Amino acid sequence: MRHWGARILCFRFYRQRETSARETHGTPGEQHLNLQGKIALVTGAARGIGRGIAEVLAEQGADVAVNDICVNDGAESVAQHIRQQGRRAMTVQADVANRAQVEGMFEKAWNEFGPIDILVNNAGIETITPFLKLTDQEWTRVTDVDLRGPWLCSQVFCRWVLAAGRKGNIVNIGSIQAAKILPGRTHYAPAKLGIEALTRNMSAEMTPSGIRVNCVHPGFIATDMTAWIMNDPEILPAIVSQISVGRPGQPRDIGTVVAFLASDDSGYVTGQSLHVDGGWIYK
Ligand code: NAP
Repeated sequence: MRHWGARILCFRFYRQRETSARETHGTPGEQHLNLQGKIALVTGAARGIGRGIAEVLAEQGADVAVNDICVNDGAESVAQHIRQQGRRAMTVQADVANRAQVEGMFEKAWNEFGPIDILVNNAGIETITPFLKLTDQEWTRVTDVDLRGPWLCSQVFCRWVLAAGRKGNIVNIGSIQAAKILPGRTHYAPAKLGIEALTRNMSAEMTPSGIRVNCVHPGFIATDMTAWIMNDPEILPAIVSQISVGRPGQPRDIGTVVAFLASDDSGYVTGQSLHVDGGWIYK
């Protein structure tokens, strides 16, 4: 009889643990964060990490403006996917490094879609070129898109938000390379480390006016940018063996953290840069 009592207790304990695990982690597509009624603009969202972020924000209740440098089938299919989930979506073209296009993007999105609450500065480019071979042109384009772009989009966004007397939220996408040295990135890595300083400094100036600013540094995430690693049978296991979680990240792994930072649940977090890398830099 004592035996049966212990079994029943065990059963109840495990059932309770399963339920609370489901409550904590949930299943993809479940809504945990209240982004209902919020409008987000995600740059570079036609594919890769930007797409993952746009889809998770929509699952958590937000309507999403999908930006890309050229609005093609990719951007349209992201918007379509979001609409199928019952959220509003629009596509909006702009090169994030071009002031006239960025100003036009916010004007179009704000007027046609409504006041933007959340900006995710995701668009980025990476090239791998040895330091001694890097040209002025390559340095300028990479740092323009990866560092000046987020600064520019944030400035235009903040001006709209403040003019409308509203609150806002910015999440910047940096890179593990803000902390980890990989060869041939003397242009990309400084731009991504710069995002951290940009985040802290914008946070200090904007948070008192109601606009929080945070940064997510992705580790190794399976996208077109990293396809050359994903497809290399020697390099892939060598990198994965350095990641504590034991697998490449997926765009949604970044999306869920961005959604938390963009939500009121993280209301006391600002100016922070968080590595979402499966434990790569600390292994
Ligand atoms: P991706 O697959 O190459 O996608 C990048 C997207 O950004 C593309 O849709 C691209 O458009 C768009 N884009 C490029 N330049 C743009 C510009 N000037 N204006 C607007 N859109 C632009 O890259 P990803 O892997 O998803 O990376 C997304 C972000 O995460 C980047 O900032 C990247 O540096 C960062 N990151 C990625 C990893 C990773 O492991 N994947 C790791 C650390 C950080 P097109 O298709 O037309 O070129």
